Amino acid sequence: MSKTNHMPFRRLATLLMLLAGVASAAPQEGPDTVTVFEGARLITGDGSAPIENAAFLVANGRITAVGQKGALALPPGAVRVDLSGKTVMPALVDDHVHMGYRKGGSFSASNYTRENLLDILDRFAFFGVAAILETGTGRGGLPYRVRAEAQTGARYLTTGSGIAMPAAGPGGAMRDAIYGVTTEAQARQAVRELAAHQPDMVKIWVDDRDGKVEKLRPELYRAIIDEAHRHHLKVMAHIVYLADVKDLLRADVDGFAHMVRDKEVDDELLALLKARPNVFFLETLWGERRALYTSRPAWLDDPILRDIYTADDLKELAGQFSSDPAAPPQAVAHARALAEMSLRNTAKLQAAGVLLGLGTDTGGMNGGQFFGLGTHIELELLVRRVGLTPMQALVIGTRNSAAILGLDALGTLAPGKSADFIVLDANPLDDISNTRRIARVYLRGKEIPRDALKARWAARN
Ligand SMILES: [Zn+2]
Repeated sequence: MSKTNHMPFRRLATLLMLLAGVASAAPQEGPDTVTVFEGARLITGDGSAPIENAAFLVANGRITAVGQKGALALPPGAVRVDLSGKTVMPALVDDHVHMGYRKGGSFSASNYTRENLLDILDRFAFFGVAAILETGTGRGGLPYRVRAEAQTGARYLTTGSGIAMPAAGPGGAMRDAIYGVTTEAQARQAVRELAAHQPDMVKIWVDDRDGKVEKLRPELYRAIIDEAHRHHLKVMAHIVYLADVKDLLRADVDGFAHMVRDKEVDDELLALLKARPNVFFLETLWGERRALYTSRPAWLDDPILRDIYTADDLKELAGQFSSDPAAPPQAVAHARALAEMSLRNTAKLQAAGVLLGLGTDTGGMNGGQFFGLGTHIELELLVRRVGLTPMQALVIGTRNSAAILGLDALGTLAPGKSADFIVLDANPLDDISNTRRIARVYLRGKEIPRDALKARWAARN
């Protein structure tokens, strides 16, 4: 087509834009409209006591003021939204996700399409998750393109392809997504290729999968970490073993996916961490749920599950909590021991003041297709199984997880922050399972059309 053929379309587009401008002059829709949300209990996400009967102003997708209902100065024409009886908390952030491979019960690289990535971002948004980090299993250039394009669902952050020994990174359909390296030169080259895409972090695997593969060798992860830091990129390591965690800290790694699972956290590790206050752990309990529950969890009956999952999805999920007769008892006991160690070590690190973030592994081998649900169950596990207070769990899932990703506008509700929040029908400080009693979700100041999303997913099933 020649350029001149486009001209009529451009004129039409201009006309439509003018008409849209007229429509947006209506008081409830204009870009300069200020909205006041008032009457709710407000959990700000910084760990301070909630504000009862709160009010906050939102303009252009940002929070401009926070205070008591009736005490904020309202500009003329402000739109009022009554949230009496509700609780408002910051939208969640999930720092350990595997995008694209899961689509319903299917787990395949052929599912890794633009359409599926955008759909998963919508699924997170439906559950009030404002941002996610794809950890190591991005395929080619697609995640970077979708990251730039995605506007309405959860924000898409990605490490692109992670780095491990050849065929020793993630499992199943994700296995070929990584850089397999055996020399320092290859390791540095992989980081340089990644850096050209400006990934949001670099992911490495230091795990022998119970002796089945080779762990990334120390001289290789030292080269990766050094090269990444030269490009101002953080490095997150998937780990299992205490000894590897200590050596990675000495190599200046920035954080860890999963918890130390072979041994109790000891004083030497705590001393190493104390000297490195910005190092983070993503405890990733949802990914170990099969080993953590000995009976059917009550949350399987939550109405929100029936809202969006198919009967097949729910059957598969429910089946994960009755013991598999085919599983060797030794393997079951081993998995349980690792999971129990995760719980104990999470409690120890929290007590020691180590920076904990929320990660779930959703979409990966053990995370399943339950995008967003896993993020909420992670909070419940932190409270019911690790023994944290609901407020501590909420701070991990909001402020801490946003800070780890450098998302300054997310994680807390205060003037200047992005208006990303969840409106709840009940108070999660009374019972952490109330984070799933979601009335509405707002991301970037706009309400997520949860009913329309539900209808879209129901129509597809
Ligand atoms: Zn993972």
